[in-house]
Amino acid sequence: MIPEDILERAYQGTTTKEDALTLLKIKPFELFALADQIRAETVGDNVTYIINRNINFTDICIGTCGFCAFKDKKGYLLSIDQIKEKIKEAHVSGATEVCIQGGLLPNADIDLYIDILRAVKSEYPHLHTHCFSPMEINHAARASGLSVEETLKKLKDNGLNTMPGTAAEILVDKVRKIICPDKLTRQEWIDTVTLAHNIGIQTTATMMYGHVDTWEDRIDHILTIREIQKETGGFSEFVPLSFMPYNNPIGEKMLEEGRFMNTGIDDLKVYAIARILLNTHIDNIQTSWVKLGKKLAQIALSCGANDMGGTLMEESISRSAGAFSGEVISVEELEWIIRATERTPVQRDTLYRSI
Ligand code: SF4
Repeated sequence: MIPEDILERAYQGTTTKEDALTLLKIKPFELFALADQIRAETVGDNVTYIINRNINFTDICIGTCGFCAFKDKKGYLLSIDQIKEKIKEAHVSGATEVCIQGGLLPNADIDLYIDILRAVKSEYPHLHTHCFSPMEINHAARASGLSVEETLKKLKDNGLNTMPGTAAEILVDKVRKIICPDKLTRQEWIDTVTLAHNIGIQTTATMMYGHVDTWEDRIDHILTIREIQKETGGFSEFVPLSFMPYNNPIGEKMLEEGRFMNTGIDDLKVYAIARILLNTHIDNIQTSWVKLGKKLAQIALSCGANDMGGTLMEESISRSAGAFSGEVISVEELEWIIRATERTPVQRDTLYRSI
């Protein structure tokens, strides 16, 4: 039984860290039922998805993240013409968004990022650009001798619509020191997305869990996201990303020590606890068919999630770390999966407006 006062705070949007830790001790299906009920009351029975395309313009990276299986695999860098070709394919397939991110090229200054945005907007001004992680923004700023704010403003002026809230990993510095010591600190990530929100660039919020992090770290991360949202209102969604332990040093060490990837129950608990902690603050919780597989992603829709993410067309980051769900999912299959949950599929744009 969930204590009355915890239920009350869950519905009011004031769940505390202690409440979340208590909720994690109850039977998982009781937790999932609470999250599902809050989801139903918040966003109803529509399950949204977006037609989009991922473009990872380079895998060359000076970063040292220990969980990364993508960096320097092929050592490629797409030319602007190759990027334009991919954008054209996205347009032809009905995409409303291109999500563009890449490794940290040595000496890549802001001009590279501006050229990429112009490659989209020059031919398809209506196509939504969802581009560049907070880490890439800081990398471009440093290489260009600009402040983060100046960088964001320049990119916005050149067609940047929204940003993926990636590079967040776990927003706890003791964890970041182990898994990504050269990446942004917790505070730098917070400052970057806060600046972005304040100049009118909305972002998503992500959390990559299931490596060296604890449940307390995850709750602290989600509460950090909640605090930023209270201040700026700039997050469109929260996206839990289950860590894939293959072909990367952190994962290989885990496997050697007899620790394996997140179990399905743990994944679903993350969705449920995120829905409860973020209630009244962030309405949209996205499940990841790439990370969880299509079947568990479908079940996550009954544990707090209300969005199935994108069709993607091309997915290489999770695939290189052992994901097996493929690079693309058709609208027909997404809708098939959603309808089987007796909910209604709805195509959306990046900012969750129905199409
Ligand atoms: S996660 Fe990104 S920044 Fe880190 S090493 Fe991989 S490509 Fe580079």
